[in-house]
Amino acid sequence: MNENELESMRNSFKTVYNKRKNILNDPQVKNLQEKVIDIRKDSIDNNEKLIETLKESFKKNDIDYAFADNAEEARNIIYDVIKIEINEDLKDDKSNYNINNDFNNYDDFNDGDSFNDESSIVVAKSKSNTLGEIAASKFLQSKGIDVIETDLGDRILQLKGKDNKPTHPTGPASHLNVEEISKIVSKGLDVDVACDPKSIMEVVKKDVLNKVSEADIGLSGANAVACEDGSLVFVHNEGNISLVSLMKTHIIVVGIEKLVRTIEDAISIAKLETIYATGSKVTSYINIVSGPSKTADIEKKLLKNMYGAEKVFVIILDNGRLEAIESIAECLYCIGCGSCIVTCPVYNAIGNEFGFNNYLGGRGVAMSKFIQDTETSISSGLYKCTLCGLCKINCPVTISTSDIIENIRAETLKKSLYPEKHGKFKDNIKNKGSPY
Ligand code: SF4
Repeated sequence: MNENELESMRNSFKTVYNKRKNILNDPQVKNLQEKVIDIRKDSIDNNEKLIETLKESFKKNDIDYAFADNAEEARNIIYDVIKIEINEDLKDDKSNYNINNDFNNYDDFNDGDSFNDESSIVVAKSKSNTLGEIAASKFLQSKGIDVIETDLGDRILQLKGKDNKPTHPTGPASHLNVEEISKIVSKGLDVDVACDPKSIMEVVKKDVLNKVSEADIGLSGANAVACEDGSLVFVHNEGNISLVSLMKTHIIVVGIEKLVRTIEDAISIAKLETIYATGSKVTSYINIVSGPSKTADIEKKLLKNMYGAEKVFVIILDNGRLEAIESIAECLYCIGCGSCIVTCPVYNAIGNEFGFNNYLGGRGVAMSKFIQDTETSISSGLYKCTLCGLCKINCPVTISTSDIIENIRAETLKKSLYPEKHGKFKDNIKNKGSPY
């Protein structure tokens, strides 16, 4: 990130921080926070049982589902579902693609198994850290599928093309100012967009709606999954997830840590996330999906496929989470509000190079150890953290990221994996009694 981008990001963060600071002391918010901490703890402590409950509930609700051990499996399942839905003839086609495990190297996705240009398969996608984690968009694009980001910030980054890593989980383009965004949109859509937020929004909206009208597949994450009810809860302000969930097939990818007991629990999480992410007490939309679209308005006879999705397919993703539950369970309490990075001194100084893919800041560094490996946690900034603990103070579920980072550092030390300069300090202390 360049200095201008960092400055814009810090200004956006300041706006959110100032907007929410008074709300956070509201006794109702404090009560909600206590409740959500208990919900998140229960979710992780009882994860195995919740998975079993969810299987039964999904069956009852006519929701299809699959488990994915890792990113590659999740991507393959998405692709299989799309192939089957788009072309029934391919139903018996056995997957014969061989995808490179390194999902950061998108060129490796090109393995010859793809839709041709004439297929014009369009997927309407909404913002999701989990989809970012598995590089779903890049993978589908490498298969000849047109993926349209429906979230305004994500669409701006998509049009930007290069260096388009998000800077905040709910405000992905927080680092771009209006001048830069108008240039990106003008260039990306080949139109002349005035340099003001409203004009930019209208131009992007028109373009996205036009493209989404050709889509049959919706692709999203979810904020929480209510296992006893078999329902998925989505939080948004733009109304775009409503669009995505109206596609013929709605594919949803969720990490196993998103499982909670009831819809009420899921909504409590959604409310607290909104408060910490935006400073508003409520979001414009909370969608709940508990199965495909249906009606019984004619003689109470059940008919499927009214306005909404004909098929709802949920992919439940492990990708290192089970291992993380064993050693840093608390790290999975995260509700995705991004509050930790807003006040993190390192993130404010260097931006999204501190973190891993869509998982930004210190918590992202910690998660990278489990999603990838220890080496990745070092390259994501394991030794950049100051251990100041501000992220815990500002975290709605009080995750002790600095303690987690210290513990991972201790592990790297045992494996002699640490930055060269730290090694010199260590040797100097040993040999001279001083780091210098
Ligand atoms: S402890 Fe590390 S990750 Fe947390 S706010 Fe401080 S520098 Fe950032």
